[in-house]
Amino acid sequence: MTISGECFCGKISFEIDGVLGETTSCHCSRCRKAFSSQASAAANVDPERFRWVSGEDLLTSYVGEHGFGISFCGNCGSTLCTTFQGCVYQITLGCVNGDPGVSIDRHIFVGSKASWEIIPEGVLAFEQGPTDQ
Ligand SMILES: [Zn+2]
Ligand SMILES: [Zn+2]
Repeated sequence: MTISGECFCGKISFEIDGVLGETTSCHCSRCRKAFSSQASAAANVDPERFRWVSGEDLLTSYVGEHGFGISFCGNCGSTLCTTFQGCVYQITLGCVNGDPGVSIDRHIFVGSKASWEIIPEGVLAFEQGPTDQ
């Protein structure tokens, strides 16, 4: 199975061989800004199985503290992936085409969610990081 994805304008696209890894939605205040949304929603990927298909030259990156960063389309602004020390380690689920066969495995930092967000009942949720409890 090949999973594909692209940004809003379609100039940057990627493919992943096989299945996506663990999926996480982070509700912390930093992710709200980084992803311009109520939370992040991203899947771990094996760098060996991930490749850019088009538009890699349009990727623009912002690297924050500790070497973690995000890469987005310089044309339309879609956030396509998160990076650690320059390597892609998660892709954003919002840019994946169709049904990649996953749902969100865990919601983290729900203790600092936006006042206007309602977390669905029955999901695996952590007040902070999954290892902090
Ligand atoms: Zn784009
Ligand atoms: Zn976060």
